Amino acid sequence: MSTVQNAGKDKPVAAHPEIDLVKERAEILRRYRGLLRAIKGERTAEENRMIRKAFNIAVEAHKEQRRKSGEPYIYHPIAVARICAEEIGLGATSVVAALLHDTVEDTDLTLDDVKDLFGPTVATIIDGLTKISGLQFGTDSIQAENFRKVLLTLAQDVRVILVKLADRLHNMRTLDSMARDKQLKIASETLFLYAPLAHRLGLYNIKTELEDLSLKFKEPAVYNEISLKLKKGEAVRKRFISRFILPIKQALDREGLAYEIKGRPKSVHSIYNKMLKKHVTFEEVYDVFAIRIILDTRAELEKADCWKVYSVVTDYYQPNPDRLRDWISIPKANGYESLHTTVMSPGGRWVEVQIRSKRMDEVAEMGLAAHYRYKDEGDHASALDAWLNRIREVLDDPSTNALDFVNDFKLNLFSDEIVVFTPQGDMRSLPAGATALDFAFDIHSHVGRQCIGAKVNHKLVPLSQPLRSGDQIEIITSKKQQPKEDWLNYVATAKARHKIKQALRDQKKKLAVVGREAVQRQLRKWGAKIDAANVNLLIAYFRATSAMDLYYQVARGKHVLEDIGDGGTGQVVQVKNGRLVLPKVKHAPDERTLEEVVAEIRGDKNSALLIGDDLQKIDYNLSPCCNPIAGDDVFGFITLNEGIKIHRVNCPNAVQLMSNFAYRIVKARWKGKDSVEFLAGLRFSGIDDVGLVNKITTIISHEHNVNMRAISFESHDGIFEGKVKAYVHDTDHLNALMEKLKRVRGVRIVERVDH
Ligand code: MN
Repeated sequence: MSTVQNAGKDKPVAAHPEIDLVKERAEILRRYRGLLRAIKGERTAEENRMIRKAFNIAVEAHKEQRRKSGEPYIYHPIAVARICAEEIGLGATSVVAALLHDTVEDTDLTLDDVKDLFGPTVATIIDGLTKISGLQFGTDSIQAENFRKVLLTLAQDVRVILVKLADRLHNMRTLDSMARDKQLKIASETLFLYAPLAHRLGLYNIKTELEDLSLKFKEPAVYNEISLKLKKGEAVRKRFISRFILPIKQALDREGLAYEIKGRPKSVHSIYNKMLKKHVTFEEVYDVFAIRIILDTRAELEKADCWKVYSVVTDYYQPNPDRLRDWISIPKANGYESLHTTVMSPGGRWVEVQIRSKRMDEVAEMGLAAHYRYKDEGDHASALDAWLNRIREVLDDPSTNALDFVNDFKLNLFSDEIVVFTPQGDMRSLPAGATALDFAFDIHSHVGRQCIGAKVNHKLVPLSQPLRSGDQIEIITSKKQQPKEDWLNYVATAKARHKIKQALRDQKKKLAVVGREAVQRQLRKWGAKIDAANVNLLIAYFRATSAMDLYYQVARGKHVLEDIGDGGTGQVVQVKNGRLVLPKVKHAPDERTLEEVVAEIRGDKNSALLIGDDLQKIDYNLSPCCNPIAGDDVFGFITLNEGIKIHRVNCPNAVQLMSNFAYRIVKARWKGKDSVEFLAGLRFSGIDDVGLVNKITTIISHEHNVNMRAISFESHDGIFEGKVKAYVHDTDHLNALMEKLKRVRGVRIVERVDH
């Protein structure tokens, strides 16, 4: 079995005769003792006994197995257990479950054995973990279905998902020994699913590490370049920060506050993301430094003390009023609490200052587990409970298509939140981008379905109006209203989408009843039998997807039964012994299944597709979304109707394609260098200078022998922006051209654009 969930997992391999088993045994014990030290808090004698037992059983069960790296397999469960204890702050039960997490799936141990030995709680967690990873490839939406399963288990016992995240983190840390295509697949899946999940659960550190590791394997060149630059800038950053915090420290000491100040280095992934999103250079992202002030203070004083620190900081440095974020008064749904401000340093550099208590900091870094530890001290976990409830609500409907579900759900996973109010002043939190219609569905699905308009802050607005934090919303309803198809275009919450789709499905069903009567009427008119065989003939004729679809389209007037055979063909509907004989329709010639096409194109499963002049034989094209050129790191994606599409590995759609449709991905590489030319887009900007446009066009057309296809320049207040589309041979050719353009006086940024 080979599933993407089994990252880093391998078939049992016999130990190499030269391996020193005595030494290995000592190393296993050393790692086990490291795990014991990492478990926080007091343990009962019974808990210690359970952990020891789990360790012994796991060692025995995995003794014949080795990882791809050649190491004993047991290193993996020990490491996962240690992450659970040390980095998520989980207790003995989770450590036991983590030690055993691969046993039921990979060894002779059964779930009943686990239940007998460790009790029902551990067995439930192991069962959940086994179910998540025990799924095989086969259907279209397998990844989506997995995601749904992940969330279902989350609703049972949240520890399942936490152990799973620890498992994934360790697999990502040890991804080096896997094959390149596996690395890409696992890294994409991590970025698509596990990092957002960690984020949503408030596991900030784990989310960041998962993202950085994914980038490291997906785009090693980018990763290495940014981390190198980060390392180089480290000394400068430290010097700057220590000078910046000096007056703050002195003032806080005078106030008698106990505190700790940390300079916060940014993650590689977050820098890269900002560079892509805002079209800025590394330096421009990196230039905003961040520090964190963590107060050691009593629970009842923490809010007041945080604002006291805010006041100290802004005494010395000018704050940007647009950048004040108060997540202490209103925490984020994942439980995050903190006070953020951005201030100007004397050198003219923006510095983000995060102010929070020690408790808030632990919650922010370790998330959920810390929540539970502090649960008795307040209502801090309630936001998270509300979130879990929302998940259960969506999961409860068995009719949801798994892929839709994931897409809808991810909308909510990725987004930030806004806080809005009902006319009565009740607070509701919604994802950023939510509209008045989302709000209506959030109140109640009846309110949503009958919503005809909304008043935001007493002003009438369209349903599609995006809301902003602090808005007060009143929904206007009418009994006659029904959800419309286009409503789906302007809702941002999974709940609203889900409810609208449900309502549309109901409407469709009602229409289908009408359509069914029409079909039966026509069959009678033709003198044909009213049976499934005749209906199937009509389905095939119209290429409908199901009887329901046929009825619906008939009711909507898309398929007109009376018109069959007309249109000058001379052919008409005939009936023989009650059976319809319909005229032939021209169908597309390719009636092979997708699997057959895939197999044919792929040939040997492991060989990569060579892209070059002889690829004309098969139907392929370069995807317009990322516009690959020779030399780019690429993969092929087998589409249903358009042959193979070649995407760049760093295409914005790649993550989704690779994790949802892994089995349709083919390895691809460029074959040699030939005379093929590729269209590439370049964007550049800088300070307008006399003759600049002329210089640029000269470089492109003469010096490099490149054919330009389109060029445009704009200039505002001395700043120019230009776009060029030109034909190049490959990435080397393109890079050389970009280097030349960068050297032109006045040009500040030259970058490749995808379309
Ligand atoms: Mn594992």
